[in-house]
Amino acid sequence: MRRLLMSVCAVVLANGAAFAQDESEDWAIVLHGGAGVIERGDMDAATEAAYREALDAAIRLGGDMLADGASAMDVVEAVIHTLEDDPKFNAGRGAVFTSGGRNELDSSIMRGSDMQAGAVAGVTNVRHPISLARAVLEHSPHVMLQSEGAEQFAADQDLELVDNSYFFTERRWASMVRAVRRMGLPIPPRPEGAPEAEPIEEGALDLMEREHAFGTVGVVARDASGEIVAGTSTGGTTAKRWGRVGDSPIIGAGTYATSQCGVSATGTGEYFIRLNIAARICTYIEGGDTPDAALDAVIMDELTDMGGDGGVVILANDGPHWSFNTPGMYRASWTPGEAPVVSIYGDEE
Ligand code: ASP
Repeated sequence: MRRLLMSVCAVVLANGAAFAQDESEDWAIVLHGGAGVIERGDMDAATEAAYREALDAAIRLGGDMLADGASAMDVVEAVIHTLEDDPKFNAGRGAVFTSGGRNELDSSIMRGSDMQAGAVAGVTNVRHPISLARAVLEHSPHVMLQSEGAEQFAADQDLELVDNSYFFTERRWASMVRAVRRMGLPIPPRPEGAPEAEPIEEGALDLMEREHAFGTVGVVARDASGEIVAGTSTGGTTAKRWGRVGDSPIIGAGTYATSQCGVSATGTGEYFIRLNIAARICTYIEGGDTPDAALDAVIMDELTDMGGDGGVVILANDGPHWSFNTPGMYRASWTPGEAPVVSIYGDEE
């Protein structure tokens, strides 16, 4: 069983209160960059170092902002921006392709204090889908927008729009071509505006497949005021068809926040949607379960029993936790007074 609990400082335990340090130090952040069959020896040293560096930079950006008094909303958006811009992750640039050969992006964000939420699905031309999700929360009367309507709203909100080819990466393209071939479907034409084709190492494709083409990104932050915000951004699953939407933009499935709990998920969305994973973890915790017990019940028992795979990062009153039933999950956390934790494999902290 791979469930990892962050250490909680003695002061906190002694006082029986979360993060009982001085006000400005009362913050926490946890993030993921996807889960899957990521095992030691799969990646060469340089690739592994690049992932660790990206996770470390992201968690430090978020922690520094929180320590400077930034709101959890601003922090979640800013940290997800950097991960959406990083082609290693399946969000924004570097997102996976549909079987039709384009990138369709999903994202959501939720604020715990008032349980306001915004979500978008199937957007093809918004550089930072998390910002569009935030705009839905802040500037629309709705919770979830999809495809052309969401893109129209993005234009109305003056968000940065890009051509779909902006999201193109060779390795994600090659991975989709391989999947589409296996499915017996026609290989879609290379998108207009994509760079010249480059050879991709078969080993890199194998790794991506074992990663399940995961690489979805998610952040949960609590700021000094106690506000919890959770956000998630993804390209979905490789070679998805028919306008498929996963759990990431579905409030309660891939993202959830209340005044006491925040969750961002990654994994095969079809399971996370049916199990309403993110909301149920918070419901268990608010009903009196410890975070460990809630994660055991939902991830290790229910998700696993259903045959699903993936994991979550959560913030509860005693700080960050994570849980996954895959061999690895790209992840990081930081709380005041502790060094940031950056991990990939199941046998790490
Ligand atoms: N949960 C995402 C989806 O199903 C994929 C992932 O997390 O890798 O769309």
